[in-house]
Amino acid sequence: MNLQNLTISQIQKDRKANKYSSASLTQAYFTAIEKYNSKLNAYLALCKEQAIVKARASDKRLAPGKLRSQLDGIPIAIKDVICTKGVKTTASSNILKNFIPPYSATVIEKLDQAGAVILGKTNLDAFAHGSSTENSDFGVTKNPWDMGRVPGGSSGGSAVVISAGLATIALGSDTGGSIRHPASLCGITGFKPTYGAVSRYGLIAMASSFDQIGPMASTAQDARILFDTISGKDDKDATSFDLDKPIRQSDKKKNFTIGIPKEFITDDVDPDVKKAIENAITILEKNGAKIKEISLPHAKYALAVYYIIQTTEVASNLARFSGVHFGEARDQFGQEAKRRIMLGTFVSSAGYADKYYQKAQEVRVLVKEDFDRAFKKVDLIVGPVAPSPAFKIGEKTGDPLKMYLSDILTVPVNPAGLPAISIPCGTVERNKKDLPVGLQIIGPQKADYDVLDLAEYFQQITDFHLLKPNLY
Ligand code: GLN
Repeated sequence: MNLQNLTISQIQKDRKANKYSSASLTQAYFTAIEKYNSKLNAYLALCKEQAIVKARASDKRLAPGKLRSQLDGIPIAIKDVICTKGVKTTASSNILKNFIPPYSATVIEKLDQAGAVILGKTNLDAFAHGSSTENSDFGVTKNPWDMGRVPGGSSGGSAVVISAGLATIALGSDTGGSIRHPASLCGITGFKPTYGAVSRYGLIAMASSFDQIGPMASTAQDARILFDTISGKDDKDATSFDLDKPIRQSDKKKNFTIGIPKEFITDDVDPDVKKAIENAITILEKNGAKIKEISLPHAKYALAVYYIIQTTEVASNLARFSGVHFGEARDQFGQEAKRRIMLGTFVSSAGYADKYYQKAQEVRVLVKEDFDRAFKKVDLIVGPVAPSPAFKIGEKTGDPLKMYLSDILTVPVNPAGLPAISIPCGTVERNKKDLPVGLQIIGPQKADYDVLDLAEYFQQITDFHLLKPNLY
């Protein structure tokens, strides 16, 4: 069985045709995990016994036609920053190395009700601070396209298990790019929904006004199915809401007017990445999209805005890990968490708050207004996800600013609360290895289904998403 290109619909078709059961598929994933995880370090914990029980239960529902949903019996991996009742949830931090949550996140409850099979918890930068998964207290996750390189971050583990065929679908979280960035560097599909479209209840908070849980998958169609399952208003998260389900108009997606922000295609973007993006834009244009150049003049301030507001919120959210209620003693915080707590405390402290925090909130509005203006002229915005393909392990760890710059093209989306996706659009060669490049599609708030439509359409007319690293 080729685990790397399995999709939800393929699995359900194969199960109905008695080719394999959810239990045997789940077992096949665990066999592959046993073989590859020691090299990749993508999973931190496995839920083997539970998974097999759930898979068997789903198989029993299949015969009488009683599957609960399209996700019934589908194996999924969960970023280890999302609480799972009774299953250790560490946020990849020593502080929480023994934390077993007494409750599950709303998204996990919804997956349970849908019949999904949780395989295990995946590695990340501790508390989701980072762009390479190197900040994990439990070791770096390796990129399956080149084991000497990072998978991106912070949802590096979830991206790797999809790309390496160690789960069918996965959940990640995105505060400044943490779903889209690793999706781009690992050649998978990663979708950050509109802020509030998915409940954050049970997500260990990083920066609450940016955080969003979202799907990671091999295809945009699978991302859509997972999104449909986890989205919706939740009484436990006051910022959540119900999104209107679209009536699909299949020919509409070809006629989208697409904006290309000139600020996103600069000299800071690797020339090979630029080429892949330009090629993708040409493909879209040839297939009916109208392309327009647009400008987001304040996007260049988004990273500064983000590192002021985000660190302020981080400092506040991490205050609960006092060693009294949760977790180990405070001295167990890693360097990056300490850096952010100090920065956030400083920029929001009396005497400095007006100059930094307040100013950043004002500029945040300008960033959002740029997008509002652009979306009066275009339906969607397209550009690169990351300025470079996967970089080498250790290449940026000595220079936090360099690391922060990895997010320059994903971060503007979060202060504005917009939906955005990363889909594969080609590869570039480095040291004789192919490395994937992601195309970013950004939509107006609540246009999640337009973003998914265009992504799905792109995957109907191209095969980039079928390219996988050579592991097997
Ligand atoms: N890489 C960004 C950061 O370090 C984004 C992280 C995230 O989205 N969780 O803050």
